[in-house]
This record gives sequence, structure tokens and C-alpha cells, in this order.
Amino acid sequence: MKKLLRLLPMAAALAICSPVQAQQAPQCGTNGIALQLLGSGGPISDDARASSGAIIWINGKARILIDAGGGTYLRYGQSGARLEDLDFIGISHFHTDHSADLPAILKGGYFLAKSHPVQLVGPTGNANFPSMTAFFQREFGKGKGSFAYLSGLSSASEGLKLAVHSADVDVRKTAPTVVWRGDGVTISALGIPHGDVPALAFRIETPKGVIILSADQNGSRKEFIDFARGADILMMPAAIDDDADEESRFLHATPTVVGKIAAATGPKMLLLDHFMGRSLRDKDHNIQIIHGFYHGPVNAGRDLSCFPLSH
Ligand SMILES: [Zn+2]
Repeated sequence: MKKLLRLLPMAAALAICSPVQAQQAPQCGTNGIALQLLGSGGPISDDARASSGAIIWINGKARILIDAGGGTYLRYGQSGARLEDLDFIGISHFHTDHSADLPAILKGGYFLAKSHPVQLVGPTGNANFPSMTAFFQREFGKGKGSFAYLSGLSSASEGLKLAVHSADVDVRKTAPTVVWRGDGVTISALGIPHGDVPALAFRIETPKGVIILSADQNGSRKEFIDFARGADILMMPAAIDDDADEESRFLHATPTVVGKIAAATGPKMLLLDHFMGRSLRDKDHNIQIIHGFYHGPVNAGRDLSCFPLSH
């Protein structure tokens, strides 16, 4: 247990969920609306963090899941989130560190007391990456999917209690696409440039404020500035340093680019995730670089960090 505690967050600016307590009951978002990170790491396990994933708590229920990278299955359980409360899943892109645990999380649909629908949204595909709907078929398609034994997921049948409806958002669209509405919450998605990988960012507008979850991107799409403007929380990946090579900068935003985006969009708080070995070692220096452009609070996310919206 001591080892577990060392790996999990013990401090964050707004609020923190105790991982020990979270195994027994939800501590994040008991009232109001809160963002909780499931994973704050990258695609390599040596950062000892789960890969990307986050949930949005609405009045004590984890209604929204964005990304399900490796390790988020465990953190999902530790957070106290319950599958029977889940209404919406957004997958930003089909790198393993954003999507690999999706089948493991959905498998829990066997064990629910009653069925309910889940909207699953992801990007359109290209020659190298599947669309959301193609991914769903490759994973769960009846008779041919890798996990065909879970094919009942599409219709809450064959023992599965989830009716998962998958849909694609065209990453080339210049205007945001509304992908879910419920209980005063509106989620929209916009394509973001992540090398040649089709990818989406999500904007979650709630009665208590706005959360922008940007997955991996190099920061070069001007439409993202309008999309992300005026957020209470803007989450951006901190995957690379300013001196990263050209290939890495084609995939990811450097601290300078993250700082410029934060300055242009003006969030009340910038939250960093997707730390990798080197960016973790250089974290303080990289935050200094960001502060050269953006003068608001910057938080370095940890697995299970909890950030309530305060107004
Ligand atoms: Zn990626």
C-alpha cells in the first residue's frame, strides 16, 4: 500500500482525491461538477502513471469519460466511477495510450443490473488509423471482431447491459461538432493536428463552467484557439520539451506552443497531463517556459487528481 501511495497524487492546487478512500466511495465531484484525471502519463510505462483518460463528475456520478489509455481501467475503478452512470465516451485518437483500455472498461457491462445507452464518439479515420465506428467493429463486431464475444455491446444483448452507439466526427471540419447534450451539459468536438493521426479535442460546457480536454496535438490549428477560448480548465499534454526533434514537434506541442495557446485562449487554469520520462524530469523548467507566455495558474496533473468547477 505504501508503494501505491507513492505512485498516486498527494497534492494538487484545487482539490485531491485520496486514492485509498476513492476505492471505497467517490470523493471527487460528490457535489457539482468536477474533472478527474484517470491517467496523467504517456505511452511508455516507465513514467509509472496510467496513460491518458479523464472523467467528468456531475453531482456524484461519473457521466463522461474522455479517453481510455492503458492503465485507465484500474484508475476508473479506483476513482469510484460506476459503469451504470456512464452516458458518454469520447476517444480522441487511436494511439494505445488513449484507447487501449476501452474494451476492458466496457466489458464491465456484463455485470450491470439493467441496460442503458452509451454514446461513443471518436475521429474519422485515414489509411493508417481506423475511424471510431471501424474501431468498434474491429474490436466488437459479431463473428469477426477481436472481442466478438462482446458483440452484444452494440445493442445491450447477449448478456451485455450497455447499448453502445458509436459515431465518427470528421476531423477536417473547421467548425465544432456537438456530440452530446444532457442535463445542461453540451459536449462538442474539433479535429486537432497530431502528426498524421486523426485526433479530436473535446469542449465540455456545463452550468458550472467550461472544460477543454485537448489530447495530443502540435498546436498549429488556428480553429482550436476559438474552440478553447474562455475555459475554466484547459488541459493540454506536456509530452515534449522545447528542444524536441522535428518529428516529435509534428506530433506534439512544445512548452512554448502550449504557453502561447494558453495565453491566446485565457483559461482560468491550465492543467498539464501526458507526462513522459523526459518531460517529467524537466517539468518545472517547462512550466517556467509556459509562464513566459501565460500568467494564470498551471497545474501538473497526477493520476486521480480532482478539479472541481467552483462557480
Ligand atoms: Zn497520440
